[in-house]
Amino acid sequence: MLVVGGGLAGTSAALFLAWRGVPVTLVEKHPGSSPHPRAVGFTARTGELLRAVGLEDGLPPSRVAKGFGVRRVRVESLVGKRFEETFWTPPEEISEIEYSPSKGVALAQDRMEPVLRDKARELGADIRMSTRMLEFTQDDDGVTAIVQGDGEPYEIRADYLIAADGHRSPIREALGITRTGRGHMHTSRSVLFRAPLEEYLKDGIGQFVVDGVGFLTTYGDGRWVLMLEDREYTEAELRQLIFRAIGRDDLDVEIITTGRWTITAGVADQFSKGRIFLAGDAAHTLPPSRGGFGANVGIEDAHNLAWKLAAVLNGESRPSLLDTYDAERRPVASLCHQQIFARNDGHNRDREPEDATLYDNNAMHYGVLYRSGAVLGAGPELPPAQRPEQWNGQPGTRAPHVWIEPGKSTLDLFQRGWVLVADHPQWEEAAHRAGVRYERIDQLDAFGLSEKGASLVRPDGYIAWRSVDLPDDPATALEAAFRTASAGTR
Ligand SMILES: Cc1cc2nc3c(=O)[nH]c(=O)nc-3n(C[C@H](O)[C@H](O)[C@H](O)COP(=O)(O)OP(=O)(O)OC[C@H]3O[C@@H](n4cnc5c(N)ncnc54)[C@H](O)[C@@H]3O)c2cc1C
Repeated sequence: MLVVGGGLAGTSAALFLAWRGVPVTLVEKHPGSSPHPRAVGFTARTGELLRAVGLEDGLPPSRVAKGFGVRRVRVESLVGKRFEETFWTPPEEISEIEYSPSKGVALAQDRMEPVLRDKARELGADIRMSTRMLEFTQDDDGVTAIVQGDGEPYEIRADYLIAADGHRSPIREALGITRTGRGHMHTSRSVLFRAPLEEYLKDGIGQFVVDGVGFLTTYGDGRWVLMLEDREYTEAELRQLIFRAIGRDDLDVEIITTGRWTITAGVADQFSKGRIFLAGDAAHTLPPSRGGFGANVGIEDAHNLAWKLAAVLNGESRPSLLDTYDAERRPVASLCHQQIFARNDGHNRDREPEDATLYDNNAMHYGVLYRSGAVLGAGPELPPAQRPEQWNGQPGTRAPHVWIEPGKSTLDLFQRGWVLVADHPQWEEAAHRAGVRYERIDQLDAFGLSEKGASLVRPDGYIAWRSVDLPDDPATALEAAFRTASAGTR
C-alpha cells in the first residue's frame, strides 16, 4: 500500500493499515508537521478509533467531552464585555447520555500528527518524510509512483494508493475528479502566539468573535490563534491587534508564526478511481467554522478504508468491497457539508444559513448511517443520521456503546475481524461455521435484538446485518449475510 500525504488523514491511514498488518509506505514532502496547527478538537468518535489501536490513553481529553458543545461568544475583547453566545449544537440538544467510552482529544495538530506517526512506525509502517510523489500511473494490477527524497527519483509499486494529499490534491486533479459544494468562502490571515490567558477559559468558552478585530481561539497549551482579514500586517500591527483582542497590553506575548488560509467547501464527486482512493481534505474540504468536521471526518475515512483494503489484500474479501468506500463515506461528507451551512456560525460571514434539517453533534459523530453493499437492511426510510438513542442497532449504524464490565465497552469487542454478538448456542454454532468470532453478551436490547437474536458487526464496529429473532436455520442465514456483506455486494 502506498499513502501520499502525511497529514492527519494520511498518517491515520498508515496507522490503521499497519495495525491491521498491511505493509504500507507513506510519503510526505515536508520534513515534519507545520508549526502552525490548524485542528485542535478531536471527537470522541476519533477517540474510539485511537482507543482501538491503543493510543487514546495519555492524550489530553477534549474540553467538550462532558457534552458542553463548542461554545463561541461575541465579545468586546477577551477581558471586556461579552455579548451573545452561540453553540455549534444548541444547548437544548446537548444530551446527558454517555455515548462513548472515549472522551475525545484536545491536542493541536502539530502535536497530534507526531503521535500518530510514531505509533504507525512502531507498528511497522514505512514513513518517508521529505519525500515527494512526482507522478503516478495505474494499471489493472497496481499503481506505480515516482517519488523523490534527498537523492534521485525512484519508483514505488503498490497494489493501491491512498491520496491524502490535502485540499488541493494534485492526485484528485490528475484523475479529473470534480467537486461539488460552496467553493471558495473567504481567505484569512492568522497570527499564532503564546500568552498566559488560561484564566479567561474557566467558563468553558473557547472561541471569541472580537468586535472589530477578528476571531480568537486557543490551542489549550498556552498557544492562541487570532484570525484576521486578508491583508499584509507588520509585526507591530499584529502585536497591537493581539492586545486589542485581549483587551490588555501588560502581558508577555510571544508571536510564534503567521498563516494565510483559503477557506473552501467542497466534496469530491467520486472518492475513488480504479486503484486510487481519496481520503481527508483531498476527498472533502469542510471549513472549520461550524462543525470542526475536517480532520475528524478524514480520520474516519482512513479507518473505513483500512479494514476494507486489509480484507481485500489478505484475500478475505473480493475487491468489490472497496466500492463501498465511496458509497459510505461520500454521503457522510456531503451531510457534513450541508450541516456546516445549516448551522449558525454566530457571525454569519459566509452568507445565510441553509434551510436544512439540523443534526446535532451526537448524531453527526456517532449516528451517521451507512448504506452500501457491505450493509444488509439499511432501508430508504431511515434518516441519514440520528442520535445513538434514536437508533436501536439497525444495520448501517455504529454498534452501540454499553459497558460490559468496568472499563470494557461493547466497542472493545470489535475492530479485529467480523463478530457475531448473541446469546444463544445455535448462534455460537452458526458463527463457528461462518468463520466469524462469537461474542456472548447480555446487552442484546441495545442492539435491538430479542434474547434469541444476533447482530453481525464489521471490523470497523458498524453493524452489517441482524436477525432480531432466531430464524429456522441460523447458520444458513448468517453465512449468506456474511458472504454478501464481506464482498460488498448486496
Ligand atoms: C484554521 C483551521 C482550523 C481547523 N480546525 C479544525 C478542527 O479543530 N477540527 C477539525 O477536525 N478540522 C479542523 N480543520 C481542518 C483540518 O485541519 C483538515 O481537515 C485536516 O488537517 C486535513 O488533513 P489531511 O491529512 O486530509 O490534509 P493535509 O493536512 O493538508 O495534509 C496533506 C499532506 O499531503 C502532503 N502532500 C501533498 N502533495 C504531496 C506529494 N506530491 N508528495 C508528498 N506529500 C504531498 C502535504 O505536504 C500535506 O502534508 C481546520 C482547518 C483550518 C484551516
